[in-house]
Amino acid sequence: VEEIMIQSEKMSVAGQLAAGIAHEIRNPLTSLKGFLQLLQAGVRKEEYYNIMIEEIEKMETITSELLFISKPLTETKQLESIESMIHDVIVLLRPQAKMKSIHIEYNGSGKEKIYCDRSQIKQVLINLIKNAIEAMDQGGTIRIFTSSSDSHIDVSIIDEGPGIPQDIIHKLGEPFFTTKQSGTGLGLMITKQILERHQAFLEMKANEQIGSTFRIIFPVPA
Ligand code: ADP
Ligand code: MG
Repeated sequence: VEEIMIQSEKMSVAGQLAAGIAHEIRNPLTSLKGFLQLLQAGVRKEEYYNIMIEEIEKMETITSELLFISKPLTETKQLESIESMIHDVIVLLRPQAKMKSIHIEYNGSGKEKIYCDRSQIKQVLINLIKNAIEAMDQGGTIRIFTSSSDSHIDVSIIDEGPGIPQDIIHKLGEPFFTTKQSGTGLGLMITKQILERHQAFLEMKANEQIGSTFRIIFPVPA
């Protein structure tokens, strides 16, 4: 009885998501309305336009990230080389890393293949490596490893950021949970959803000394 009560009091993911979207969209809308009213009343300042554009951009980012979730898996799941997907994503994110003096290093046998939707798994890698870059303000190295056993193929992404405080680790992946000024808090949720569709999962841990490790665990293709 106890368990059922706890379950029913906990908001469903859909409920959390709906509440989050409403909240995240309402705030910029309220601010847009306020600025429009000021303009209507004849109070004109150049900076109002900049703030209004920023608010609109915030809503654009949120809606385009949400659209990604509703995208169906393509019917063309294929056997893809993990190394080639990691390579593509490193090329894509290298300029952003370079600007923060961050080096991205990859080590693997290059032989691992998984059965997947290539663009979705690349999105997972983008989300995780972007988070690693955003966590590292002092420069440093992001290390990416792949390894495999009889049953699993793993990809680990290890950063040298401040790590994840124990008290928030259980919130990671909740829709709209972010500790960043301009974060959406959707990256890890989308990541987990995509991985679920691939019978894969995500493990996260704060490292002993420095940084965090995010490990993706894929099943070996049949
Ligand atoms: P966002 O990046 O928009 O904040 P995410 O879902 O990608 O949303 O991440 C949620 C939160 O998880 C981040 O705001 C941050 O607090 C934490 N986080 C994720 N990755 C890392 C990391 N590599 N190091 C430290 N904290 C992280
Ligand atoms: Mg993120």
